[in-house]
Amino acid sequence: MTVITPQPGIMDIELYQGGAAHIDGVSNVVKLSSNENPFGPSDAVKEAFRKVAFDLHRYPSTDHAALREAIGEVQGVDPARVVCGVGSDEIIAFLCQAYAGPGDEVIHTEHGFAMYRISTLANGGTPVEVPERGRVTDVDAILSACNDATRLVFIANPNNPTGTMIGEAEMARLADGLPPQALLVIDGAYAEYVEGYDGGAGLVDSRQNVVMTRTFSKLYGLGGLRVGWGYGPQHVVDVLNRMRGPFNLSNAALAAAEAAVRDTAWADKCRNENTRMRHWLAEALAGHGVVSDTSLANFILARFADQAEAEACDAHLKSQGLIVRKVAGYNLPNCLRITVGDEPSCRRVAHAVGQFMGDEV
Ligand SMILES: *Cc1c(COP(=O)(O)O)cnc(C)c1O
Repeated sequence: MTVITPQPGIMDIELYQGGAAHIDGVSNVVKLSSNENPFGPSDAVKEAFRKVAFDLHRYPSTDHAALREAIGEVQGVDPARVVCGVGSDEIIAFLCQAYAGPGDEVIHTEHGFAMYRISTLANGGTPVEVPERGRVTDVDAILSACNDATRLVFIANPNNPTGTMIGEAEMARLADGLPPQALLVIDGAYAEYVEGYDGGAGLVDSRQNVVMTRTFSKLYGLGGLRVGWGYGPQHVVDVLNRMRGPFNLSNAALAAAEAAVRDTAWADKCRNENTRMRHWLAEALAGHGVVSDTSLANFILARFADQAEAEACDAHLKSQGLIVRKVAGYNLPNCLRITVGDEPSCRRVAHAVGQFMGDEV
């Protein structure tokens, strides 16, 4: 038996399951399993990425000043308190590494994003799962789960994979009810899809115990490049910057992300098209007897009678070249998470679900 063992917690991590991308023997496949933007990044972003080809021998910026300035201007946040990471996953990892070690508790909700648990265990902390109420974050349940060991509370708003969100007053009540040693992390991976929502930036500005994370992987269509950012009080940002590798983001990532955040016309077009097709898809599935909660993100959580029906529908969709996400690992065995694709993809999904439910041939 080997005596070389890793730190406690690490062997309790179950490997993250990415969304599938291929089906053996099926062509014309549509991937609707990873909440990617079906239109990808804008032309301006592709042009910025191409230009970097001539600069690849240069080390990138260490302080990300140009990207932070652009984020500050467009999102109305203080660039001095923005910290950029290799996806928002890296910001989540820094927060766990900085604030939650052995003996510390990290709260996430029943259907919360898998990375909260993974990053907590990677740092020896204890993940604490709190029930939701009807697939919605339950502030009272979270507050009653808090104790002297609670260091971090992660809430995605809107949440993945439920698509639901809580309002600013509820989020403020959560922040104000936390024990003094705990930090609230509002994960705004889908915030850009919600018209007029600041992702929690206002709560960050008015408090010392709230951090927001954001990403370029969803609305901005840059999942393949890995860029995210955090926004927090100065004391937290100072901590994260000490842990951050000086060259964590490449030239290409920085240039593309800056072009993306400045291209507000493309962001508006993608948001509007997502809203239109999300409503269409939810209604089309409901017409076939497959219900979903009102989603504010770029996916819907389709609910079936039971796990067997959800799995059978998943198999039928696969046979039609449509890859969606099973979410039994998120305590939702009777559901499938379906990314809102472009209009032809949504029509294919609705048609295939109709076939499965016996409404169409
Ligand atoms: C997709 C997603 C992220 C983004 O992760 P990146 O590392 O930025 O690609 C973060 N949180 C949630 C809830 C997500 O669904």
